[in-house]
Amino acid sequence: MADDERTRSLAHGLHTVEGRIQAACARAGRPRDDVHLIVVTKFFPAADVIRLHRLGVTDIGENRHQEASAKVAELPPAVRDDLTVHFIGQLQSNKAAHVVSYADVVQSVDRIKVLRALDRAAAAEDVVETVLLQVDLAGDDAGRGGARPRDLPALAEAVAAAEHLQLQGVMAVAPLGGDSRAAFDRLRVLADEVRANHPAATWISAGMSGDLEDAVLAGATHLRVGSAILGSRPPQR
Ligand SMILES: *Cc1c(COP(=O)(O)O)cnc(C)c1O
Repeated sequence: MADDERTRSLAHGLHTVEGRIQAACARAGRPRDDVHLIVVTKFFPAADVIRLHRLGVTDIGENRHQEASAKVAELPPAVRDDLTVHFIGQLQSNKAAHVVSYADVVQSVDRIKVLRALDRAAAAEDVVETVLLQVDLAGDDAGRGGARPRDLPALAEAVAAAEHLQLQGVMAVAPLGGDSRAAFDRLRVLADEVRANHPAATWISAGMSGDLEDAVLAGATHLRVGSAILGSRPPQR
C-alpha cells in the first residue's frame, strides 16, 4: 500500500474512533479529556507507529515482548521520546527486566513474581516503572492473564512497598462473549477499592475496539484500541 494511502486509512480509523469516544463521553457526562486513547499496534510495523505519531498519537500498546522490543528499537529517537509505550501482554518474570528497558508503563502485572522481577529491573536501570495491576474478570483462568479480584489488595500492597514501582491503577479485558458493561462496572468497583488505599492509583484501563463505549460509561480512563484504527490482524497464535 502506498504510504499516503496507509496514512489516510489510519487517519480515517483515528477519526472514527475519536467520534465514538466523544459520543460515549457525551452519553456518560464525562469530559473528553478524562479518557486517554492508547493505540494498540501489535502485528503492525514500526512504519505504522511513525505514521500514527505524525497523526498526533501519543500512546501505543504492545502485547508481545519480542515484537515490541524490536519495533520500539526501530523508531527514530525523536518519535520514541515523544511516545508513551504501554506493555499490555502477558509477562514472564524472566522477560520483565527487558520489558522495563523499552516500556514506559507495564499494564499487565498480575503476580508477585513478575512484580519483584520488574522492581529489580527498574532498580538496575535506576528508574521508577509505572505499573497497573491486571484483573481477571472472567474468573475462568482462560489464559488471558490477570489476578483474581481477591488477590488485588495484597498485590497493591506489594507494588506500593516496591521502591522502583509506581502503582497507577488497574487494567482488564472484558470476558469473551460476556456482558462487557457489567464486567467494566465490576472493574470500576475494584479500582475504587484499590484507590481507597493507594490514592495515586487513578487509572482504569479497559475497553477495546468492540467495547470502548461500555468502558467509557463504566469510568475507564484509558482505552486500548487496535483493529478499529489499524485494521484487522492476522489470527492470534
Ligand atoms: C490486542 C489487544 C487490545 C486491542 O484489541 P482490538 O480489539 O484490536 O482493539 C487491547 N488490549 C489488549 C490486552 C490486547 O491484547
